[in-house]
Amino acid sequence: MKTLKRIAAGILSTALLLGMTSCATKQTEASADANVDSAAAFTTVESGKLIMATNAFFPPYEYYEGDKIVGIDVEIATAVADKLGLELVIEDVEFDSIIAGVQSGKYDIGCAGMTVTEDRLKSVNFSTPYATGIQSIIVAADSEITDIDTLVNGDYKVGVQSGTTGDIYMSAPVEEGGVGEERIERFAKGNDAVIALTTGKISAVVIDNEPAKAFVAANSGLKILETPYTVEDYAMAINKDNVALKDAINQALKELTDNGTIAAIVNKYIPAEG
Ligand code: GLN
Repeated sequence: MKTLKRIAAGILSTALLLGMTSCATKQTEASADANVDSAAAFTTVESGKLIMATNAFFPPYEYYEGDKIVGIDVEIATAVADKLGLELVIEDVEFDSIIAGVQSGKYDIGCAGMTVTEDRLKSVNFSTPYATGIQSIIVAADSEITDIDTLVNGDYKVGVQSGTTGDIYMSAPVEEGGVGEERIERFAKGNDAVIALTTGKISAVVIDNEPAKAFVAANSGLKILETPYTVEDYAMAINKDNVALKDAINQALKELTDNGTIAAIVNKYIPAEG
């Protein structure tokens, strides 16, 4: 099952990369200079602004520093907005309302360490992936759970953040690699799940690796299992009708990747290990 998911994720990334290549080619044909300003005209929800929906409890991608929201997604979205000549406006909302808000035209982008999934692709478009995420399993430091199989095949309760890929995978029936609805506890914020773990209400939390590291560092008596669960691509969700905005964002992301800006932003928050 795990392997299947990894292969599926791989196929999805390859498909997206191929998509990206053909977009880039189209844009080059449309304008010899291929810079963002000359890309096809796009519209945004509010003229001059790029409204980003996120859930700002997902360090180091988005989190509060005082009353300011900072993090990798915020910096990448700011750099993209700059390239597009737009002012970035951040709306901090529940994670599981982001896709619907992008789909209904309330927000221009959903940028929230959001994994590209086939199901979400039915509702929104995704930009080119700009980061990789891993689903990790957090348990108590002295837990008898050693890997995903012990977790799935035991009788353990698992905490997840509502509507995330951790939720989607773990709430699937045991035959499909999850623990089933009865053993799932959903929380609005990942850290609330981690707190429930520290008080023994649940036995494990399945959540993205980088926030997992931050939550484990902030709460004593926990550890992350060494066996990651899945590897995923993070990308920005964009309304399906706004293909011009997706093309412009992809062009901006390409330029920011090529000139090293994205790598510098990621390295600033996640220093390379080793
Ligand atoms: N990557 C996970 C998902 O897309 C979690 C994202 C989040 O909690 N912000 O579902």
